[in-house]
Amino acid sequence: MEKILLRNIENPRSADIKEYIKNGGYKDLLLALKMQPGEIIEEVKRSGLRGRGGSGFPTGLKWEVALRDPKSPKYLICNADEGEPGTFKDRLIMEKNPHLLIEGMIIAGYAIKAEYGYIYLRGEYPYVKKILSRTIKEAYDKGYLGEDIMGRGVKFHIKLYQGAGAYICGEETALIESIEGKRGQPRIKPPFPASTGVWGMPSVVNNVETLSNIPYIIEIGATAYLKIGTPECPGPKLYCVSGHVKRPGVYELPMGTTLREIIYTHAGGVRDGKRLKAVIPGGISTPILPPQNIDCTMDFVNMPRYGSALGSGAIIVMDETVCLLKVCERALRFFAHESCGKCTPCRIGTKRMLETIQRILRGAERDEDIESLLELGSVMDAASFCPLGQTAPNLVISTINHFREEFESHIKEGRCPS
Ligand code: SF4
Repeated sequence: MEKILLRNIENPRSADIKEYIKNGGYKDLLLALKMQPGEIIEEVKRSGLRGRGGSGFPTGLKWEVALRDPKSPKYLICNADEGEPGTFKDRLIMEKNPHLLIEGMIIAGYAIKAEYGYIYLRGEYPYVKKILSRTIKEAYDKGYLGEDIMGRGVKFHIKLYQGAGAYICGEETALIESIEGKRGQPRIKPPFPASTGVWGMPSVVNNVETLSNIPYIIEIGATAYLKIGTPECPGPKLYCVSGHVKRPGVYELPMGTTLREIIYTHAGGVRDGKRLKAVIPGGISTPILPPQNIDCTMDFVNMPRYGSALGSGAIIVMDETVCLLKVCERALRFFAHESCGKCTPCRIGTKRMLETIQRILRGAERDEDIESLLELGSVMDAASFCPLGQTAPNLVISTINHFREEFESHIKEGRCPS
């Protein structure tokens, strides 16, 4: 498959606007500006593009809700708060192909009739802030941003907003609260941001990778775009591979490539001749998979059939030497630290799960520890206010389901089989 999102990134000057224009950049914006906003939304809806941040919500549908809402002004927000451990794909687009993102944002803004857009950038990406600031300035200087874009009478401005390093601000309503200058905590939904978002106005929140697909959809049309990936989840996908593989990195492949192909063909397989023990397929909030499940196709629809989720496409590969209890402990430390504290099941639940795993690792376990982890996890899933608390137990519960003997070995024999 030809590179679409990572096109030309081997060029050391790929982030420069001159290089981007030389390679056909901003032509799709001109094409889009000759279309009516409703036509663009129809094309995006027909393309089947789903949000690449993790939820997989149909992008065109979200845009339509915002466009039809009578309130104005409307806002476009790019969610660049890439904080899921193991995920580093949006960073690559912003570092190497930032004008693709800006072009996608301008088209999206025009389609929903927004004149202002925000990029909400992860606090831990200060060097990306410099790149994006330069990119935005270049786009203004060339007339792709401003009061009269390409002489077509269209107005769109972008403001770059950097978060303070809270994982929860990747959740769209917490992100909106943060932009408004408040503590980053999720809002109750509905109302959804597409009708009541930043400053109470219709706001579309799309992830970096999602918006970077838009110029290509305009360029080739929805019919051709549908031929990439699977019928239910079309388009290219960036998969981040880390852990015990020979070639970790970001791979641009058709959506629905199998986990086996990604690990063994593209990432070179497990390093040092070791056996594969387990894979976390979509970031640490997604359930773990044993080796016998890696023939799953990595897309939003099929992964639940294999007992996991695509998430952000962050694949963490672990070989036979890994202690999975230590992996769970590390993940829970992260979630307990990042819980925003708004609701009890998550605020207290992440701490209690962490304490239980740490107790088992210390050898001070109790017989009922496995059952209490399962029970606590199911309460958190059912009663937490937002996806952070609902998904935080996924790794522990799925590890118990697939690797229960490893927990039992720690509890009964006081040793790790790895
Ligand atoms: Fe905050 Fe966790 Fe509750 Fe979400 S689930 S609102 S992160 S305490």
